Amino acid sequence: MHSKAAEACGAVAVGHVGASRENSRKDSVMDGLPEDERVIVETVRDFVDREVKPVAHALERADTYPEQLIDSMKQMGVFGLAVPQPWGESQVSTPCYALVTEELSRGWMSLAGAMGSHSVVAKLIVEYGTDEQREKYLPRMATGEIRGAMALTEPGGGSDLLAMRTVAARHGDEYVVNGTKTWITNARHAGIVALLCKTDPSSNPAQRGVSILLVEKGEGLTVSRDLPKLGYKGVESCEISLSDFRVPTSTLLGGVEGQGFGQMMRGLEIGRIQVAARALGVGRAAFEDAVRYAQERESFGVPIWKHQSIGNYLADMVTKLTAARQLVLYAARYYDSGERADMETGMAKLFASETAMEIAMDALRIHGGYGYSTEFDIERYFRDAPLMIVGEGTNEILRNVIARQLIARNAIAE
Ligand SMILES: Cc1cc2nc3c(=O)[nH]c(=O)nc-3n(C[C@H](O)[C@H](O)[C@H](O)COP(=O)(O)OP(=O)(O)OC[C@H]3O[C@@H](n4cnc5c(N)ncnc54)[C@H](O)[C@@H]3O)c2cc1C
Repeated sequence: MHSKAAEACGAVAVGHVGASRENSRKDSVMDGLPEDERVIVETVRDFVDREVKPVAHALERADTYPEQLIDSMKQMGVFGLAVPQPWGESQVSTPCYALVTEELSRGWMSLAGAMGSHSVVAKLIVEYGTDEQREKYLPRMATGEIRGAMALTEPGGGSDLLAMRTVAARHGDEYVVNGTKTWITNARHAGIVALLCKTDPSSNPAQRGVSILLVEKGEGLTVSRDLPKLGYKGVESCEISLSDFRVPTSTLLGGVEGQGFGQMMRGLEIGRIQVAARALGVGRAAFEDAVRYAQERESFGVPIWKHQSIGNYLADMVTKLTAARQLVLYAARYYDSGERADMETGMAKLFASETAMEIAMDALRIHGGYGYSTEFDIERYFRDAPLMIVGEGTNEILRNVIARQLIARNAIAE
């Protein structure tokens, strides 16, 4: 399985000239990965350096969907990293998946975003789908021919999912769906949407009335609006309106109503690792630019890193980034153990995203006035970083999740 993944990525590895001294040092983060997974991470790293870094600035300014780069990601097998055999050929461990995500995000966070919800939807189908659903979607999702979006959030709120108003009413062998979803990333380019809705709005407890439908676009489902946003350009986040949208009951994930909330909570665990890894990528990009600039820029006759304040920023940045990466890799290994991992993935997303925010801010300080310039990448990192404190559960919600699990695992006898 793993060697096939390496082969898939190897298709674009031509021209790889071997690890530089810098890369060898960074490769220590890959300790524990098998050789074929290291090759995959290195291949994506080379792709980012060669094809993404030189164009990311212009593409983000143009705010258009990066078709060509997405095509290259398809060829590398990136959309199949979460799809096992027999449906896919490039499944990898979750630590490898996280490191690939970090590399893409280091080039441009939007590229990593384009495969984020896609992977969550793929995992949902792998873990909970019926045989028919797996056969129908997974082979084409593995190649990236069709890509996935997930629709949870509604205009009335994203954190309080059980207050959702989207209802799928059963009529014979069809559901008739009505409601509105918002902030749905990849909505226009997705061939499949995992739609969280209520199949039994009167259920008590409410979560037993929640289901996931795997829907394709059709009459009654309208991508009604592209939402303007601070960063995360190039990839669309949209409002979706559902008006008497009819789908067959075979779209119900797993074929049993009332399982959707639990299914999505597990799905969000891989989603949170992905968002945490995206934060690592943005943080690392900002850090690497700052390390270079602090050596090039001089004031008072010395490179600015020699001023203790700037040196201290760099020291704090590398310390926090290294710690964040270790936490993300720990959460990824924990997720692969099959255990409930909401606490571990929550801690990783919380810490990595707050770290990325701090690093982006400190990188901006180090760049002085140029940090504020739209001719430099620093301001892009500064605009992209906040998404990760909000997406896949806000950090306030994640603190609730972590605290609840912490106490549940350490409850004292009354
Ligand atoms: C660019 C972008 C892309 C997105 N992509 C998707 C997507 O593809 N699919 C999707 O379904 N959603 C997506 N989202 C939505 C995202 O998941 C939600 O924005 C997020 O879950 C928060 O929901 P909200 O915006 O409604 O905030 P609210 O839930 O209204 O929260 C507002 C504030 O109150 C705090 N708060 C709320 N409840 C509590 C509580 N119990 N304890 C402590 N604090 C609380 C929140 O942390 C936040 O600070 C995206 C968002 C953005 C910005």
